[in-house]
Amino acid sequence: MAINIKTAEEIALMRQAGRIVASALALLKTRIKPGVTTGELDAIAYEYCIKASATPSFKGYNGFPASLCASINDEVVHGIPSGKRKLREGDIISLDFGVIYQGLQGDAAITVGVGRISDLAARLIKTTEEALYKGIAQARSGRRLGDISWAIQSYAEAQGFSVVRQYVGHGIGRSMHEEPQIPNFGPPGRGPVLQPGMVLALEPMINVGTFRTRVKEDRWTVVTEDGSLSAHFEHTVAVTNGEPEILTRE
Ligand code: MG
Repeated sequence: MAINIKTAEEIALMRQAGRIVASALALLKTRIKPGVTTGELDAIAYEYCIKASATPSFKGYNGFPASLCASINDEVVHGIPSGKRKLREGDIISLDFGVIYQGLQGDAAITVGVGRISDLAARLIKTTEEALYKGIAQARSGRRLGDISWAIQSYAEAQGFSVVRQYVGHGIGRSMHEEPQIPNFGPPGRGPVLQPGMVLALEPMINVGTFRTRVKEDRWTVVTEDGSLSAHFEHTVAVTNGEPEILTRE
């Protein structure tokens, strides 16, 4: 298992790719309200990406039909946008978006409430974002991959939530999915030693109920097995000689 080490030039391009992803997600966040369809959100993401001279990386990936993954409530990841799917007051929606800019990738996700949401949903969203930042804090030269996994799992479970096992984070660079796989669970002190120039997409998927998931009949949409809510946050992060650098930032 070889983990690609990126050059400074590659990381500079990934920073630009990341900025496009972050700006698109920030724009989408302002459009989230009851009555909006996930198909409309997908169109906004696509147009933003094209205007920024980037290519949407999800579109056509293993046949995925859209630029954006839009996953509502019990949908964990890989929800397919549709002009028929309207957001409703109280929903939570996870938006996952990736682009390729001059051959290099950026990938990030956020979960957003639609109008007024329950205290439980708000706590799930907050915990998932915080779990991501706990993971990012471990993305330092000399730490091990398992330190990231454990930081995410231990934080999320301490808040009473569960961590999806079947889908994991990943290395990223010229390909969207590179080595290593980055589970959001598992013991610390194991796995590859992190080095400057590694770029990792960290993406905890956290559920209110069981960690178990299943794939719907559309063969893409992943839902929680028990129908409980799920949230997802992701950043593309570079390991440096010092602080971790979040590349998917505006
Ligand atoms: Mg990803």
